[in-house]
Amino acid sequence: MRHILWFRRDLRTEDNPLLACEGEVLPIFIFDPSILQKLPQDDRRVSFIYEQVRALKSSLQQMGLDLAVFYGKPQDVFRHLLSVMPFDGVRASGDYDAYALERDRDVSHLLPFEYLQDTYIFAPEEVMKDDGTPYMVFTPFYKRAQKSFTPGHLAESQAQQLKLVDYEGYAGIHKIDGACSEQLDLTIASIGFSAVEHHVAPLDTLLKHFASHLEHYADERDFFDEQRTSGLSVHLRFGTLGIRQLLRWLVERKKEGIDTEPFFRQLVFRDFYAYLLYHFPQLSTRNFKYPFKGRDDHELYAAFCEGRTGVPVVDAGIKELLATGNMHNRVRMIAASFFTKDLLLPWQWGESFFAQHLNDYDAASNVLSWQWSAGTGVDPQPYFRIFNPYRQSERFDKEGVYIKRWIPQLAKLTSKTLHDESYFLNHDIPDYPRPVVVHKDAVEAAKAYFAKSLGHTA
Ligand code: FAD
Repeated sequence: MRHILWFRRDLRTEDNPLLACEGEVLPIFIFDPSILQKLPQDDRRVSFIYEQVRALKSSLQQMGLDLAVFYGKPQDVFRHLLSVMPFDGVRASGDYDAYALERDRDVSHLLPFEYLQDTYIFAPEEVMKDDGTPYMVFTPFYKRAQKSFTPGHLAESQAQQLKLVDYEGYAGIHKIDGACSEQLDLTIASIGFSAVEHHVAPLDTLLKHFASHLEHYADERDFFDEQRTSGLSVHLRFGTLGIRQLLRWLVERKKEGIDTEPFFRQLVFRDFYAYLLYHFPQLSTRNFKYPFKGRDDHELYAAFCEGRTGVPVVDAGIKELLATGNMHNRVRMIAASFFTKDLLLPWQWGESFFAQHLNDYDAASNVLSWQWSAGTGVDPQPYFRIFNPYRQSERFDKEGVYIKRWIPQLAKLTSKTLHDESYFLNHDIPDYPRPVVVHKDAVEAAKAYFAKSLGHTA
């Protein structure tokens, strides 16, 4: 048997079910122009992926294998490979956003496609209600997931002794465009990008740091003054850390007496969002609960995207996002609430702005989190629960360490002042704008708007 092993969201050799097969294999990675052409030349994610592809190639070489790297539309790449020699099929782990499903469907018309379970803890059909329909609310999903979890979900995939397909294209990058093929050097410039600082910390550094915080995760995870969460989302996104590897790491910590359940719950959250998008693909653009259009205000949108709303915690979050591609979960929640409620802007705009910049951008987590914040999703927060950004920063960044780190213009203000809306509304601060809204008034307007959309009396 001869198979193509298609690496996508699983850029590692350890515990990778792709390698747990037999026979002859051709491992490949495809840089897909349909995704890359929308990105700026200095996109941080591309730098990270490029580095990981090179690391994967050398890791495969150490096993006596190799990686053929392509730049082209996946269908063209597979047509090209089939023109070189016959294959019995392609093996790849599941990828469930709308584009990925369509891309895989197209490829499956060319040769048998074997989907492997790797990216998430559970397969998309594994945690269902008794009547066979998908859960729409997290807590019952989580309870069912806890019950469904078995040692099998921790099982490690062992790489087998595989024979590398004799193929002349392991060197460089093959650019495939329709029927034309061209060989380029294996550099990031060959795919039209430059190498930039990606701000993704190495996996072992993150795990080592997080080991000392895991014990306090439940109490500390919302504080954003310093790194208290795992920071693992990018590694989970691209599979440089496999979910089962992480679960086994948690089991070891549990044996040391640490309560790992709060962290496990967040991992199940990640599964839940992917599961929802798989079962309800229309969620990627459409509201589920009720129609929410929002205001077509491009000036407010620009103020948000440039971190000049005059609301310190929101602007600090955007400054961090623009400078590094990272943003703490609580700050994302505050920013998304401010965007959809205080500014009443369409959540789709915020979603696409985050998608452009987040290092850990993942369609399911991003779309569903934005729908949650807007109150329009499958399992949303109620529309009238609106974060007060000043109370949030007072609670989770009391000394203003985070705010001052990202907005140096505010460095001289006392920590108390940083959380005082009336100060910002009534004082001129050099190089820092006055708030674009008064929170209390914005809340009233938002509640009236949402109540009207729902046909409630405000
Ligand atoms: P930790 O707290 O250490 O959590 C561990 C892992 O659990 C994370 O790496 C992540 O994979 C998962 N996780 C934790 N919280 C959530 C959550 N609320 N939803 C889904 N998964 C979670 N996460 C993404 O991976 N990609 C996105 O594009 C994304 N967009 C978001 C947009 C908004 C508006 C909001 C509010 C949240 C978004 N999240 C997204 C979820 C969450 O903010 C990040 O997963 C988290 O901040 C990553 O940091 P961490 O690895 O330190 O998390």
